[in-house]
Amino acid sequence: MKCRVCGKEANIRLSAYNTALCADDFLTFFERRVTRAIQKYNLIDKTDSPLVAVSGGKDSLSLWYILNSAGLQADGILYRLGH
Ligand SMILES: [Zn+2]
Repeated sequence: MKCRVCGKEANIRLSAYNTALCADDFLTFFERRVTRAIQKYNLIDKTDSPLVAVSGGKDSLSLWYILNSAGLQADGILYRLGH
């Protein structure tokens, strides 16, 4: 299975998008999807400083990373439920 963008060995197949991507191109794809969703639904203004509730799992850490990659000054706050 080859990456649809660069032709290198793919690391992930995305059936919903009928594509396969290497790690680098998946990150670009994911960042673009998040950025477009933020713009489409007007979720965060460029002047906002979003606060991400971080559990330590991949979802919240990925969101925090992507928001900062998109140029937003996102901060994180660690929460632990039930501990
Ligand atoms: Zn690639």
